[in-house]
Formats: sequence, C-alpha cells, structure tokens
Amino acid sequence: MDDEPLVTRMRPFGETVFAEMSRLAAETGAVNLGQGFPDTDGPPALLEAAARHIREGVNQYPPGPGRPELRSAVAADRKRRYGIDLDPDAEVYVTVGATGGIASSVLGLVEAGDEVVVFEPMYDSYAAVIALAGGVRRPVTLRPGADGRFTFDSGELRAAVGPRTRMIIVNTPHNPTGTVFTRDELAAVAEVCRDNDLIALTDEVYEQLVFDGAEHHPLATLPGMAERTLAVFSIGKTFSVTAWKTGWVTGPEPLVRAARTVNQFLTFTANGALQLAAADALHDEGAWVRRQREALQAKRDRLCAGLRSAGLEVLRPQGTYFVITDIRGLGYSDGIELARALPRTAGVAAVPAQVLYDTPEEGRHLVRFAFCKRDEVLDTAVERLVAAFGG
Ligand SMILES: *Cc1c(COP(=O)(O)O)cnc(C)c1O
Repeated sequence: MDDEPLVTRMRPFGETVFAEMSRLAAETGAVNLGQGFPDTDGPPALLEAAARHIREGVNQYPPGPGRPELRSAVAADRKRRYGIDLDPDAEVYVTVGATGGIASSVLGLVEAGDEVVVFEPMYDSYAAVIALAGGVRRPVTLRPGADGRFTFDSGELRAAVGPRTRMIIVNTPHNPTGTVFTRDELAAVAEVCRDNDLIALTDEVYEQLVFDGAEHHPLATLPGMAERTLAVFSIGKTFSVTAWKTGWVTGPEPLVRAARTVNQFLTFTANGALQLAAADALHDEGAWVRRQREALQAKRDRLCAGLRSAGLEVLRPQGTYFVITDIRGLGYSDGIELARALPRTAGVAAVPAQVLYDTPEEGRHLVRFAFCKRDEVLDTAVERLVAAFGG
C-alpha cells in the first residue's frame, strides 16, 4: 500500500493552521485571538428553546429539506429585510452549518475540470471543497487601498473568467478582510456573472455583523442575479452559537435541488431541535442582534486601537469578527514566522493570512486577529503585545 492513504486531491490540505495555532495557544497559555468564535453565549431564549425542544422529544430525524418552521422563518426574514420572495418549500434548504451548504453546493454544481473564481484571501473550506469536486480555482486578489479597505480590480476579475468558468464564490461581509462589498463592487461581479453565464455562490454568514452604518447587499437582489445565485447562511455567527452548525441555502429551485441532491448523502439532515430554536430567533431576536452588532463594533475599535499601540498597522474592517494587520512595523515580513513565535514570545495567538491565499506572497506580511472576545480578554492580549513589542 501507498505510504499516504489520503486521496491525492486532498493531499495539499493537511492540519489547518487554525488547529495548529489553537494547539500552540493551549500549550503556552496564550490568549487565543486566532480562531473566530465568541467567548460569550447567544440570546438566552434561543438556548432555552433548544433545551426545551430536546426535553419535549424533538430528537428524531427532521424532514430532509429541514423543519418547515425554519424554512418559513427564513423566507419571512428575507422578505422583511430585503424584499426577497422565496418559496420556503422549493427555495430554502437547511444544512449542517454554512460549511455543509457550501460543500453541497459546490459538489452539486461544479464538474471535474470546471473553474471556480474565488476572491483571496478566502475562507479555507472553499479551496478544499473545490478540490474535492475536481474543480480548478481562479483567484482574484483583494488588496488594501489607501484607506486600508480591501477591494478588487474589476479588470482582474474579468481576466480570471474563461470558457471553463462555472461559478464565482462571493463572501460578503468578507472573512478575513472585513470588507463589505459595495453595490458598485457587486454590480461589477453581477455583470461578469451575466456576461459569462456563471453561477454565483454567496457566503453571507456575516450579513448582520456590519459596522459604521455599512450596508450588506445580497448579490441576488441585483438585476439578473436571483436566477443564478445560491446564497449560504448560518445562525452560528449571527447568534454567537458557532457550535450549533445550523445553516441554510436559498436560491432558485434548480440550484437548491442540486445542493439538496448531494446533501441527502453527505449529512441527510441537520439537528431538528436547533432548527426550531433558530426559527424563533429569526422572528424574535432582532434587538439582540442589534446590540451584538454595536458591542462588536466597540470591540473592533478596542482591539484596533490596542494593536496600533503595539506597533501593528491595522487594516480596519467594516464587518465580521476579524481584523487584518500588516506586521512589517514590528520588523517581521513573514506572518507564519510571527504567528508561530507569538504564543511563546508574547502570549497571544493569531492566524497568518497567507494560508488563505492561492498566491501566498500577496499576504505574506498579513496576520489576522479575532475581536469577538470579552473586553478583558482583548485588553490582556493588547497588554501582552505592547509588553513584547514596546509601544
Ligand atoms: C464561520 C464561517 C463559515 C462556517 O459557518 P458554519 O455555520 O459554522 O458552518 C462559513 N463561511 C465563513 C466566511 C465563515 O467565517
């Protein structure tokens, strides 16, 4: 037998850097600002509802497409906030987190040899699932402008599309840069999709976590896009319950059916009690989400100011849980080197951004910190960085 049993298409994907940094953080007692999960709980009524549904016997397989209560709540929520009309039976489908939705969508829509355009840096599951499908990634690099906001060049976007291009993946608000795509940026994406008959897969898990009055626009609301866009969501980020892995995809029936056909055999269904709790939260927890958004914006400001005082250049995000920093002010040029040293030398863990690029040299000098943590945790991290690097 081959020494390496893993299939060749997955060999480039070893242990993720997130796991490595979390392990280093645990070994050294470092404050972990690497992986992006909150250290406080979601809305009390949401947690209570999940426990109640389990106690009251919601413990067997829910319907394959998801509990009708959640699919109706999703349709009502899209209608209320964006004026989008969805048929909850044919155009909403519940998945095991956004990760499950992304995997089912790509595996159901990308043929071996098809090309998929992705903006880099990119969420790590995109690369792996495109590889599993036998697809080929065509990266378009997001770079910071003079204002520190990451954006793309629409000429580079056009140049990335060819005759084999099937899909473009659009993540807005964007992890890890924190960019919220403007209507103009989305119009450029939409034009490329229409001109080349592409499917758009949108990852909108941070749709509610935008700051400074920035507005999230679903790509599906642009002209000619509803019929070619499959959108992926999750309750994990919106309601601070990342362990719940409850998400959904929405879009036209043929695209949803493609994802559903695959998902039947990947996971079949997702936890029913959590789906019922999520349905109520979509109706009832708007005020909690607003408070959470304000709290996160203050945390962003707190961490950004602290990182600056430690000598890092901060590329200020407009949304999400994350801030990208340029480490060259600390005398480092390689983010992996700094991120591996940081837990021991400073007692803080972060993630090197270059592992989220297909062209790592574009992000060699960038490191990502998460700010979805209690204020005292952020303050401890900053004190340690200032102590290690001077102010
Ligand atoms: C966290 C995250 C996901 C995964 O969401 P789950 O519901 O936990 O599967 C997907 N996309 C992005 C950009 C994320 O940050």
